[in-house]
Amino acid sequence: MATNPILTCAVRLFDDSKLDLSNLFFLFTRSYEPSCQTPKNPLTQKPLKPFMRIAMYYSNDDVRLEEMEIPQIGSREILVKVIASGICGSDVMEWYRIRKAPLVLGHEITGEIIEVGNKVKKYKKGDRVFVSHHVPCNTCRYCINDHHTACETLHKTNYDPGGFAEFIRVPQINVDGGVFLLPGQISFDEGTFIEPLACVARGLRLANMKSGLSVLVIGSGISGLLHIQLAKALGADRIIATDINEYRLRLAKKLGADETIQAKENVPVEVRKLNGGRPSDLVIVCTGALPAALQAIKSIDRGGTILFFAVPEPGVNVPVPMNELWRNEITLMTSYGASPKDIQTAIELISSRKINVKDMITHKFGLKDTGKGFKIVSDAKESIKVIIEPQR
Ligand SMILES: [Zn+2]
Ligand SMILES: [Zn+2]
Repeated sequence: MATNPILTCAVRLFDDSKLDLSNLFFLFTRSYEPSCQTPKNPLTQKPLKPFMRIAMYYSNDDVRLEEMEIPQIGSREILVKVIASGICGSDVMEWYRIRKAPLVLGHEITGEIIEVGNKVKKYKKGDRVFVSHHVPCNTCRYCINDHHTACETLHKTNYDPGGFAEFIRVPQINVDGGVFLLPGQISFDEGTFIEPLACVARGLRLANMKSGLSVLVIGSGISGLLHIQLAKALGADRIIATDINEYRLRLAKKLGADETIQAKENVPVEVRKLNGGRPSDLVIVCTGALPAALQAIKSIDRGGTILFFAVPEPGVNVPVPMNELWRNEITLMTSYGASPKDIQTAIELISSRKINVKDMITHKFGLKDTGKGFKIVSDAKESIKVIIEPQR
């Protein structure tokens, strides 16, 4: 559909006079085609810049629908129309997000390339893609030693303005190392799991997950459920999952946990009962709640590994009985984010159907209801994955 310059001009002029024409704007941005000639204001003859809708994050219960100019791309950049954008558990970690607010969050996106800079050769208009917000430099000592997620570049990179927007500008470094074509069998919705699953694949890879191990997953939200499924696919012997939420415990079972424990119970004792009298070989902490970290330390077998996939917020310290851990050769480790290699693994796991992500989608909203989505995710009642569709 071509942009209608007359409609566009009218919209822009009316907007200048502060009339509420959000619906017309909506029509306009929906019909935006970057290859069209930019329409001009008939009075000033200045080019009119097209606008798009974004969801601006101020806090967990204050996410507003706002507008901004559609970002202009450079010759080595691309513009992606965001079709699906997942709300991540980390998006509602208020202590982590609020210090940078207001900002446009969203880093689990899939979409379609609608504009390509003239020096970009790898991608073309119409490609269905997943775009990684963080990309490593691949040259520093951390990248060379497979700690890509500790790379300074990775922490600084991002797309513009964020996934809860109609369009994103993908900077050159992300185009070079963070754009992945979506295989035909992965839907846009399923593709929003690529980033979270990649983080999980990384965690289990670093923790040397192998067949025959008994696994305890503490916290059965999205990341816990993905850990359960992947541990199962990798041949875990017995998987036990915990949560305080019964809805999540039921899902944990459906997605592969052999046993579940209500987290308010005495978890270390229950684990032994369900695991042939001994603690677990691998404990994965998927919630930042302090009791979870304490339960983990008491539920690990000799020679085992505790993976802190989620950690308590800054200032909350976990008391660690070092002497006890030392005698039993227990490894405490963390994992953060995902590298391009992990993203590739996640794409393969989803497209081969080894991991069922479809059944984890519980809600879908248009962009204007992003705030509602945030509330549902932070309440963590009967929801798992909440997807925002910025085009509606
Ligand atoms: Zn995420
Ligand atoms: Zn690096």
